[in-house]
Amino acid sequence: MYQILIVEDEVRIAETVKEYLERDGHGVRHVTTVADALKLIDAETDLVVLDLMLPDGQGERICERVVSLFNTPVIMLTSKRNEDSRITGFACGADDYLTKPFSPRELVMRVRSVLKRARPRDRIIRLDYDIVIHIDRRTVTKQGRVVRLTPNELAIFLCLVDNWKTAVSRDKLVEYINAPDILDRTVDVHIRHLRQKLEEDPKNPQVIKTVHGYGYILGVKRHA
Ligand code: CA
Repeated sequence: MYQILIVEDEVRIAETVKEYLERDGHGVRHVTTVADALKLIDAETDLVVLDLMLPDGQGERICERVVSLFNTPVIMLTSKRNEDSRITGFACGADDYLTKPFSPRELVMRVRSVLKRARPRDRIIRLDYDIVIHIDRRTVTKQGRVVRLTPNELAIFLCLVDNWKTAVSRDKLVEYINAPDILDRTVDVHIRHLRQKLEEDPKNPQVIKTVHGYGYILGVKRHA
């Protein structure tokens, strides 16, 4: 089941579209404004059906944002029959485009085909200090710059991020390390390297905190 977000201020159209998409097996949410759409769109959204003209602004804003942040496919709806809105739609990264009035069945077919050829998604996790984990690309960036982590460092870091509200024991972290022989202090060595790469001041770590006699805990907030 795919999660689809409809952004459309004409409630009658939105409800019809929602009904058809739900009947096709999708989870569907509906909002009517740019502001609400920007609040709701997240990495779990698989596709956005987007009206171009919304009460508080242009759908393009949402389109640019979802494409750049999550690489989410977008189908643009517009009532204007001219070439301009079509170009606008594609310029901001929309995958497909429908002119109102359209048949809900046609939209369902377009949704299916866009989902079928959807780009591989870049799932991301955001932390404080502008640290971003691109899960599918297996990379971490800090303030927009790539932080080069070894596979073991990344595995340990992801384990801490996954368990972000709880301390993780050294024993558990050891399980994430892939190495022929693991010494007692192996985890600490990896943590030291992670801190050198991620912390503002590795001697006063904020991103990864030590839980004395036990292990480590993520010290920063996870945003998504
Ligand atoms: Ca509208």
